[in-house]
Amino acid sequence: MIYDLHTHSNASDGFLSPADLVARAQAKGVNALALTDHDPLAGFSQAAAAAQQADISLIPGIEFSTQWLGRSIHIVGLGFNPAAASITQGIKRQATSRLERAQTIGEKLAKAGVPDAYAGAQALAGDAVLGRPHFAQYLVACGAVKDVASAFKRYLGAGKMGDVKQLWPGVEEAVEWITAAQGVAVLAHPDKYDMTRSKLCQLLGQFREAGGQALEVISGKQVNTLTDKLARLAGQFSLAASCGSDFHVPNQPWQELGAFGKLPDFCQPVWQLLPGHLSS
Ligand code: MN
Ligand code: MN
Ligand code: MN
Repeated sequence: MIYDLHTHSNASDGFLSPADLVARAQAKGVNALALTDHDPLAGFSQAAAAAQQADISLIPGIEFSTQWLGRSIHIVGLGFNPAAASITQGIKRQATSRLERAQTIGEKLAKAGVPDAYAGAQALAGDAVLGRPHFAQYLVACGAVKDVASAFKRYLGAGKMGDVKQLWPGVEEAVEWITAAQGVAVLAHPDKYDMTRSKLCQLLGQFREAGGQALEVISGKQVNTLTDKLARLAGQFSLAASCGSDFHVPNQPWQELGAFGKLPDFCQPVWQLLPGHLSS
């Protein structure tokens, strides 16, 4: 059985449609898949229909952005009830936060002499989650800059006027949205936060205390020593172990669907906590 429990479609910042993602997962031998887009659940029903055809077990999934001690921390939710009120509220909270930030970026660009950037970026984003890359595209399209790199350098990059901080909820709050919907909260890609071991331990303690149940021990292709280290850390905090590619775009070998190492035998695999998804 190959479980890929962290993937993205074009319902957030991925490249493939949910149906194409499922088809690619099937081609790569994935048996159980979680589509974990950044906030929206919009891709789930399309993915579910395709998964049924492909004989892939589809696990409800989501990836929430949170903040903890000034850092952006990602929490993946798995196996929750997609219709639960807490999930709907969480998604709404994140959407409002993204919208307010995008409007603020638009206002700042207007003051800097680029009118209508919000509407322009929104049109370029289409159904995708509106973010700085769309503002960059708009700045190119309206002739304010010559390319995307210049857009970041002049307007959107760190310390520039369009670098508006996002106000995300705390880790505890996102864990609560997931657990209240009978889901399992997973701390995503712990190696990507550039944290010392003691900081990570502090985070894991609080995450566990808040009701978090698993650590993403494998995030795409990674060296065995890292897998082993994270697996031990999961054990130390009585957390189950999850694994996923964090797939966004085809043909990036380090995050291909299903293409990563095995969880060490001493881990408790997170799928044991996902009733109904134990086997296909
Ligand atoms: Mn992403
Ligand atoms: Mn992430
Ligand atoms: Mn992700």
